[in-house]
Amino acid sequence: MTRRIIVAGASLGGLRAAEQLRAAGWEEEIVVVGDEAHPPYNRPPLSKELLAAPGGFDEALASVLLRQRRSATGIQWRLGAAVVRADLAARTLTLAGGGQLAWDGLVAATGLRPARVQAPGPLPGRHVVRTLDDALGLHRELKPGLRAVVVGAGFIGCEVAATATSLGCRVTLIEGSGGPMERPLGARLSAGVRRFLQERGIHCLPGQRVSAFTGTGRCTGVRLADGTEVAADVVIEAVGSHPNTEWLDGNGLDLADGVLCDEWLRAVGAGQALPHVVAVGDLARYPDRRTGTGPRRVEHWATPADTAKIAAPALVAGVNGTPVPEPAAPLPSFWTDLFKIRIQGVGSPALAEQTEVFEGDPARPEDGVALGYYRAGRLIGAVTAALPADRQLHYRRLVTEAGLPADSRLAAV
Ligand SMILES: Cc1cc2nc3c(=O)[nH]c(=O)nc-3n(C[C@H](O)[C@H](O)[C@H](O)COP(=O)(O)OP(=O)(O)OC[C@H]3O[C@@H](n4cnc5c(N)ncnc54)[C@H](O)[C@@H]3O)c2cc1C
Repeated sequence: MTRRIIVAGASLGGLRAAEQLRAAGWEEEIVVVGDEAHPPYNRPPLSKELLAAPGGFDEALASVLLRQRRSATGIQWRLGAAVVRADLAARTLTLAGGGQLAWDGLVAATGLRPARVQAPGPLPGRHVVRTLDDALGLHRELKPGLRAVVVGAGFIGCEVAATATSLGCRVTLIEGSGGPMERPLGARLSAGVRRFLQERGIHCLPGQRVSAFTGTGRCTGVRLADGTEVAADVVIEAVGSHPNTEWLDGNGLDLADGVLCDEWLRAVGAGQALPHVVAVGDLARYPDRRTGTGPRRVEHWATPADTAKIAAPALVAGVNGTPVPEPAAPLPSFWTDLFKIRIQGVGSPALAEQTEVFEGDPARPEDGVALGYYRAGRLIGAVTAALPADRQLHYRRLVTEAGLPADSRLAAV
């Protein structure tokens, strides 16, 4: 009988996992099940160029669709179908309509959903940006002269603030406890980014928390913890995200923050890695051999491909009962675009204990800057802003050459 691997989640991680399963020699059935109606598409433009100028729906969708590798043939797509439950012992999945699918191997690729600000007040007029429909809905509201309040100064909050400003909106950015993108960039570069955003017209409010949304029927502003009220025609909440793991509940997995995995991206239950279940992309929490800091999730565009390359051969080996190949230690990378500058990161700058300026002035990221990020005296990351590709590649090489810590081989989780 033909065996089947099911991939739950039909976005970047689901697509890359299906492709890598074929690359790993799996010639039997692959079924990808996703709750969105659209085929896999790229999310980074949703807060940048697509949010600025999407065109009509068909044009917008076409501009972000991900291309499937030609070699990845015979993949069955079940779109618009949410998985509501997995039974790992019986090896079945239940879909929202009640249908059941049996599987021999399972890839969890259900990613994240946006967190919401925990404060009372009306919901209409408040947006999040995770899906194509979110971005199109927000674009319709972003008219020149309108007052937009962005809550949260991570990547998505800063990008949306920049895009809304470029569309002529008057933008207030409520930063919360850290400065703009402070966790991945560090305090010095974050302060430079704030200055850069302010000079382009964004009103930044550091150290503020939202205590309530004001208005009756529709949100017309936010009240801050210090009592200040900020009027808003539209509010964007960009305060982090929650992993979509509910469908895996009740199977003894550690789902405290995504799916806990071992180095092969195999899901861990009761202290043991399950050979038939892997996780990829934003959902996977896996050991970071490069920093030795224990399992964590990495929410960057490159992660689905990096993790799928390890998870797919491990799953095929698990289903076939053959030895698992040695896993690679992926080097994370990310980028963000703010107005006309691109900030790029490699490694894990968010885990640094110390930073060093390699070139430029962090107070003026738009003029070109590079910083190194160190942990236990070892270079674990680099960030560049507004530098040409060869400089960025140079710093990437430095981080790669810094290698792994001497004791990088982690025991199974
Ligand atoms: C607006 C935005 C901008 C970004 N910009 C950048 C950037 O500039 N640079 C960068 O490095 N990264 C960026 N990222 C991050 C990058 O896009 C993500 O890391 C990547 O999309 C993760 O892919 P994934 O497949 O793991 O998860 P997702 O893309 O979240 O996909 C998960 C899929 O599973 C589906 N799903 C969820 N639950 C179920 C269920 N129960 N049943 C079936 N399907 C389900 C979801 O609907 C979704 O389609 C951005 C992300 C966003 C949202």
